[in-house]
Amino acid sequence: MIWNESKECMSREEMRMLQGKRLHKLVDLVYHNTPFYRKKMQEMDLTPEDIQTIDDIVKLPFTTKQDLRDNYPYGLQAASMQEIVRVHASSGTTGNPTVVGYTRHDLEVWKEVTARALGAFGISRNDVFSVGYGYGLFTGGLGLHYGVEHLGATVIPTSTGNTEKHLHLLKDLQVTGLACTPSYALYLAETMQKKGMSKEDLHLRVGVFGAEPWTENMRQEIEQKLGLQGYNIYGLSEIIGPGVAYECSCKNGSHISEDHFYPEIIDPETGKVLPAGETGELVLTTLTKTGMPLLRYRTKDLTSLITEPCECGRTNVRITRIIGRSDDMLIIRGINVFPSQVESVILEMKEFEPQYMLVVDRQGNLDTLEVQVELRKELYTDEMGSLLNLKKKLADRLKSVLSISAQVKLMEPNSIPRSEGKSKRVIDKRIIK
Ligand code: ADP
Ligand code: ZN
Repeated sequence: MIWNESKECMSREEMRMLQGKRLHKLVDLVYHNTPFYRKKMQEMDLTPEDIQTIDDIVKLPFTTKQDLRDNYPYGLQAASMQEIVRVHASSGTTGNPTVVGYTRHDLEVWKEVTARALGAFGISRNDVFSVGYGYGLFTGGLGLHYGVEHLGATVIPTSTGNTEKHLHLLKDLQVTGLACTPSYALYLAETMQKKGMSKEDLHLRVGVFGAEPWTENMRQEIEQKLGLQGYNIYGLSEIIGPGVAYECSCKNGSHISEDHFYPEIIDPETGKVLPAGETGELVLTTLTKTGMPLLRYRTKDLTSLITEPCECGRTNVRITRIIGRSDDMLIIRGINVFPSQVESVILEMKEFEPQYMLVVDRQGNLDTLEVQVELRKELYTDEMGSLLNLKKKLADRLKSVLSISAQVKLMEPNSIPRSEGKSKRVIDKRIIK
């Protein structure tokens, strides 16, 4: 279902006009209400009058996570505390949390874009939807919650914390839609198996997964284990939370709610804007936010833009799957490695559980990479010879994909820690040394 056809299927010219108008208004707002931006613009000899069309965006300064930290907690807010009705914080995956204040208007925008996402996933008023993201400062829980209500489906605010209870709820309340991190979806599937439940005992139809990078192979694994169609939802608290971008039934890139969030891709080294199709860092401008509007926010998420029209009829541009954050990228012996590449290899091979951990270390002057992966239960007791072969098979495959060699360590089933929220896939011991 297309929730808001007039905004999701606009002609490109109309969209650019709207974006230009909104950008001008936004710049005017931050120039007058956020001393941080006024100072930056004055240093660059810019006034709001210099920003008339969306093409003028390149004149504006970038905003970084460091800027938010330096101005913690409310330094980048454009609204007074009287207008702020809610505060969230980023989960702090990569350092100190950053705090975001929302006005009533921002909450309206948020539930609107989340409802667009749910509509694109095929959720309707007939669905019963369980939100398995954490409720609290993290935007996942409440973000999805209000989106589901706005769309008119029934929301079950399950949150995290009790997996068995969650499974009972899914079964007893005939839940058809589920939102959680992809790693938690796997954990649910695992717990189901342990409890002797099968996917046929449940009524799940649609899964809404995001908050961390996941691969196409992971999607297939989850879909098959939970018996649902899994869709990607992308967002970050600094911009609004989940709902910034979402897949459609084509499952080929996630549409950005471009009337609210203007995307650019830049070269993370030089800051130069890259053309569609090229991979770089996603930069987002919040065209309509009033609480903490951000100009050209550098997300650190690596992706590319797809500007070709989509078969679903939506005209908004799409982003490809996030490969990872620029700061998740490991440099091992000079070669760039993303955990998502390892995930992709491991999930291709049916002998392994989709559970892994990368341990990076330095021995002498040489970086080492160990990939820990769990064997499927049936194989764990297999004879030594076949396990050695399996180890070699994975090591060879990793070498061809990563271009560096990795030590493979076969782990007992259930030995790698599971996560209810964002998973931790890397231990980098070089940082401590
Ligand atoms: P934190 O930066 O502390 O994790 P958030 O909770 O706001 O803060 O998380 C936002 C980040 O989560 C994004 O910048 C991105 O790195 C990651 N993320 C969110 N959704 C997705 C997704 N669908 N695919 C990949 N990464 C995602
Ligand atoms: Zn589409």
